[in-house]
Amino acid sequence: MAGIYIHIPFCSQFCTYCDFYSVKSGKRGDDFLSALLLESKERREFFRGINESPGTLYFGGGTPSLIDPLALGEIAASICQNHGHPAPDKLDEFTVEVNPDDATPIYLKNLYSSGVRRLSMGVQSFVDSHLRWMNRRHNANKAIEAFHNAREAGFSNISIDLIFGFELLTMDEWRYNLQTAVALNPEHISSYQLSIEPGTKLGREYAKGLYSPTEDDTSYLQYTRLQKSLEEAGFLQYEVSSFAKEGREAIHNSSYWERTPYLGLGPAAHSFDGLKRYGNRSTLSQYLKRYSPEGIEASKQPGYKECYITSEKLAEKDIFNETLMLSLRRVNGVEVERLSKLCPSENYQSFLKDLERLISLGDIEFINGKIKIPSGKLFQSDGIIRELFR
Ligand code: SF4
Repeated sequence: MAGIYIHIPFCSQFCTYCDFYSVKSGKRGDDFLSALLLESKERREFFRGINESPGTLYFGGGTPSLIDPLALGEIAASICQNHGHPAPDKLDEFTVEVNPDDATPIYLKNLYSSGVRRLSMGVQSFVDSHLRWMNRRHNANKAIEAFHNAREAGFSNISIDLIFGFELLTMDEWRYNLQTAVALNPEHISSYQLSIEPGTKLGREYAKGLYSPTEDDTSYLQYTRLQKSLEEAGFLQYEVSSFAKEGREAIHNSSYWERTPYLGLGPAAHSFDGLKRYGNRSTLSQYLKRYSPEGIEASKQPGYKECYITSEKLAEKDIFNETLMLSLRRVNGVEVERLSKLCPSENYQSFLKDLERLISLGDIEFINGKIKIPSGKLFQSDGIIRELFR
């Protein structure tokens, strides 16, 4: 199902590990919302051009919960209108990422009345010392309170994010985090291994030798514990980092893995129309300039050359590699026939040879015409998939 992603590029403080594009929240919020509306309007041919209509809306960031929820509802309504959808509350899925610190009863009540039906809550840990180290705004009690507030406000589809694989996290604390998350009974849990990204505070500490990454063996044990605890609690794993109660898989994110078209609005957002990938530049000031009334006017002038959005037509090999990466991260895997059709003919024999080798090693399973990575090997999935890249 096609969808729309909206990137809200503001945070009130920056997490130690994060490399998503965002700037300090403050003065430019209203300008940004006006620019967002202009961008949505200007790109209203996106879905018409490919004969699709969006069924999901996802506000991510940054911190979308810094935006007034009623204003966010108006933006969502306008985006729906521009892209041929009747209304936000008629969408198949409408998700907003929420920082627990912002999730007050009134905020959530207004968010619900704006048509939002799914929350993605950035909890990350239920241990205060971890949250301080991550430089998160909330503490553990606040996260639990936010979850209960959301239920009170009527949200029956909530996802919780948790991080593992960082220096401070002990196995007992990880068990505690999982037990606490499960006790809240969310519909969905996403859990990511901490990665050290250059340009982040953590990346700089690592470069100076001030941070020791968690050994792979420890992260692997934590990942195995994650899979086991959530399976025992009735969650089904459907992707490397994603676990859902039956029927509660994230529709919007699943579309990315299926390579379904999506439109990304806002600085640093990406779009895909089935053939080309598009990227908005990651600069708020450039964004505000491009999607100002003057910028829109300039873009209508003869000879205008679009510099704000980059585009890339995918080569045969890129499509093949991308399909491999996205589909083999999913627990259900992918039909070999689909891959065979996508594989460049000159690489087909070598692909089959490598596939056979990975099957003989037990890194890949071949069942009923499909290949998939066995549950016990999903932790190493990126490395396994790379071996099949052409
Ligand atoms: S993790 Fe979220 S809240 Fe933290 S800096 Fe990144 S975008 Fe902002």
